[in-house]
Amino acid sequence: MAAIAIPKALLPSDGRFGSGPSKVRPEALAALAQRGAGIIGTSHRQTPVRDLVGRVRAMLGELFSLPDGYEIVLGNGGSACFWDIATFCLIQDKSQHCTFGEFSAKFAEGVERAPHLGAPAVRSAPYGERIDPEADERVDAYALIQNETSTGVAVAPQRPRHADGSTARGLVLVDGTSAAGGMRIRLEETDAYYFAPQKCFGSDGGLWLAALSPAAIERAERLVSERYVPAFLDLTAAIENARLNQTYNTPAIVTLLLLADQLEWMLTNGGLEWAAQRAERSAAHLYDWAERSDVATPFVAKADDRSPVVATIDIAAEIDAAAIAKTLRDNGVVDTEPYRRLGRNQLRIGMYPTVDPDDVVALTACIDHVVAALA
Ligand SMILES: *Cc1c(COP(=O)(O)O)cnc(C)c1O
Repeated sequence: MAAIAIPKALLPSDGRFGSGPSKVRPEALAALAQRGAGIIGTSHRQTPVRDLVGRVRAMLGELFSLPDGYEIVLGNGGSACFWDIATFCLIQDKSQHCTFGEFSAKFAEGVERAPHLGAPAVRSAPYGERIDPEADERVDAYALIQNETSTGVAVAPQRPRHADGSTARGLVLVDGTSAAGGMRIRLEETDAYYFAPQKCFGSDGGLWLAALSPAAIERAERLVSERYVPAFLDLTAAIENARLNQTYNTPAIVTLLLLADQLEWMLTNGGLEWAAQRAERSAAHLYDWAERSDVATPFVAKADDRSPVVATIDIAAEIDAAAIAKTLRDNGVVDTEPYRRLGRNQLRIGMYPTVDPDDVVALTACIDHVVAALA
């Protein structure tokens, strides 16, 4: 069978719709070769790289309206590494996890296996739905996720509250990996808001970053003084280094440079509100299209739970979604495949702020074209 060629006029200006790693702005890559050239390959203990770390910390503080006493901390290893850091340095004995997808489940599984912790309480919802935390005074940390990248379900994280309205005492740890920079967040509702730069921040992988509350910092200091913690996972070492605009070991400097460029781009254009609205424009078009389409349906049934940054779209059984994704890929429109372990006849589309909303309009036209050609 001849390959299906999508007419050039229908194609998006940039064909990257991945949910992570995701589109990096060509301008950021150009700046990397120019402005970055002088600092890539130089010591992370000297002023140029420390200034870069300091700028990233300051710009993240501005973007998130960092509350008094909160600090931006960073290190190597990505968000998955932060799960292990939290397992050693933030969970005292018993955590509660809200799981409704692969990422939230993975953190809970890691905690379940940790010999130094009690059994976590896991509240799970079927994929495509969500579940909220429940205040429980036996719990010292709540693990929430703002955007479940595997299913396209998003929530507004909030501290769990008792029936009388008082907030629960446990720390609130929020995985914002694919939400941070593309969705609004109230850091007052969190104690550790952690993420990585290869999603909404249009950078490369390799780092974790976190906004930590005074309570989280205090908890880490106490637990590290009381129990064995591997040096690489020692959050207090990361905190002390971050205060000096450094990292425990050599950071991914290219990742930091791309992140700094993206933060400048977001702040110049209007900050988090602007970035969130840009993603929402893309999402409004995509879900609208899916609801009107004969072959596509939003996987997430409740409109309020649908992610503005990662859309999961079921495709009617008579059409092979993998064939759509492959045809798109052959035409330079990439990474629309579903999360591998969800196992659905589905497309998954990253709509991070970097993605031009006009390109999402072009994408749906391309999908329509491919579906008609496959039929
Ligand atoms: C991508 C992702 C992770 C893992 O991030 P890494 O930087 O690859 O470790 C964790 N949580 C969520 C929600 C993600 O989307």
